[in-house]
Amino acid sequence: MSDRNRQVLNELLKKPGNSYCADCKSEENVVWASCNLGIFLCQDCAGIHRSLGVDTSRVKSIKLDNWDDDQVMKMSELGNDVVNMKYEQHLPKYYKRPTKTDVEILRWQFIRAKYERKEFVYPDKQSPYSSNTKEGNLMKKGKHDKKYNQRRFIINSKDNCLQYFNKEGPKGPKDTVPLDDVNVVFVPDKIGNPNGFQASYLKNGTTRNLFLYCEDSKEAVDWFTAIRCAKLERRRLAFPDRNEDELCKELTSNFLCEGYLSKRGPRNEPYRKRWFTLDRRKLMYFAEPLSPTPKGEVYIGHKDAGYYVGNSTKSNSDTLEFFLKTPERGYELKAESIEDKELWIVALTTVINNPPTPQDIKMKYFLMFLHQKSLVTND
Ligand SMILES: [Zn+2]
Repeated sequence: MSDRNRQVLNELLKKPGNSYCADCKSEENVVWASCNLGIFLCQDCAGIHRSLGVDTSRVKSIKLDNWDDDQVMKMSELGNDVVNMKYEQHLPKYYKRPTKTDVEILRWQFIRAKYERKEFVYPDKQSPYSSNTKEGNLMKKGKHDKKYNQRRFIINSKDNCLQYFNKEGPKGPKDTVPLDDVNVVFVPDKIGNPNGFQASYLKNGTTRNLFLYCEDSKEAVDWFTAIRCAKLERRRLAFPDRNEDELCKELTSNFLCEGYLSKRGPRNEPYRKRWFTLDRRKLMYFAEPLSPTPKGEVYIGHKDAGYYVGNSTKSNSDTLEFFLKTPERGYELKAESIEDKELWIVALTTVINNPPTPQDIKMKYFLMFLHQKSLVTND
């Protein structure tokens, strides 16, 4: 390949639209390109493009592969901005663009939706998730056993609900999940299925988790996207003056940290192993990873309000122990490894340093109300 072609490609990469990945917008490892589509890609997205087959996307390394004059010419004529004007012209704002903290199937389905199915070129192809209603079957874990059973689910944005039904027939729904409060997160490892996800909401004064999956990864992402679409519709109506991009940030959020920690009880009882989940400003601990309800939930507020996390100050503490302080109580915690402890301290510190939003405050008062009514066990 001529030095001139290599130089042109490197110059093209410096153009604003090409300095980040055409699909996930990451600025890291943008060292790949699709020479027939005319876009620059990060390493993770390039891997998925390669699996689409060369008729859809022909992936080349910018640094290592040979480029001929025609291919380089095409890259300079097209580039990320021009191509996205076509392939993302009708990308709905509620559609989750994959990031590096997202699970693999979100990236995989975003790229297939964009280039194979062309869902963001032809809006009528968005019907599985764009109508604020959806009906279909999902596999749902039993509340008290480990078995997954097929259940009928219905989303209805007008009535603020996601409902599921045990059996066909005249019987009413088994449960009604308020859409406004539900958070949906992909948790493939926990569920043991690549398309596994979790819906969490407030019920009878505590968080309730539903563990779900479906066999088809497109179907799983369609459900996830349909819930985001229905939630956005409700928020649009409730907050007509708020910016839509801001509203979209509140639709679903990945857990900030999740895993086993050991925790002492409030009266210095011995350590007990619990499954911990940090969901935005809510730290929950469960008996098991797939427990339907937590044993306790703690609001994590701002540092100025007396919240703190850091190494244990006890003289005889071991290196895996750390300490979380809230205005109400101190929590002695112990991680499984030094790496885990670092992850937890970083995640909790980030939350504690961030000022709470009005929605966070609402959650705080809700949790305080629960504790006053002693609905949450405090082990
Ligand atoms: Zn990417």
